[in-house]
Amino acid sequence: VVTSTGFAIAPAPAAVSPLYRRRFQVQSRRDTAPELAVRRAVWRLGLRYAVDASLPLPGVRRRADMVFSRARIAVFVDGCYWHGCPRHCRPTGRNRPWWVAKLSGNAMRDVDTDSRLRREGWIPVRVWEHDDPIEAAQRVADTVRARLWKESVE
Ligand SMILES: [Zn+2]
Repeated sequence: VVTSTGFAIAPAPAAVSPLYRRRFQVQSRRDTAPELAVRRAVWRLGLRYAVDASLPLPGVRRRADMVFSRARIAVFVDGCYWHGCPRHCRPTGRNRPWWVAKLSGNAMRDVDTDSRLRREGWIPVRVWEHDDPIEAAQRVADTVRARLWKESVE
């Protein structure tokens, strides 16, 4: 199977453990709890943004969880499992090889999205699901304000 992103993935194994199935379902949900926590914290810092918006990248369809179009900053709140967090993502069990391939495909896609954004003059900001939402929001706000300030003086 070759996805629209150009990364080949194997078809899902027929028997997926209940734990992984649950993670699959959790992942497919929008507005996850960590995402909402970061969004609320950024909002409280006085910043306004588009939610789950598509990115202006030629040739590919990618979205970010928060988009600051004037500052050209895209924020991604990455789930630890799905995006292969080095601290919490440990695929195990019978279908481990399939998951390792699948998750490394996801990680490659994240790297690809970031480099495409930079090429277009955007700044990608990655937040892990396990990050403290308040600290993450502060990092987002600092990045946005630094960019807007820099552009106002140039
Ligand atoms: Zn993590």
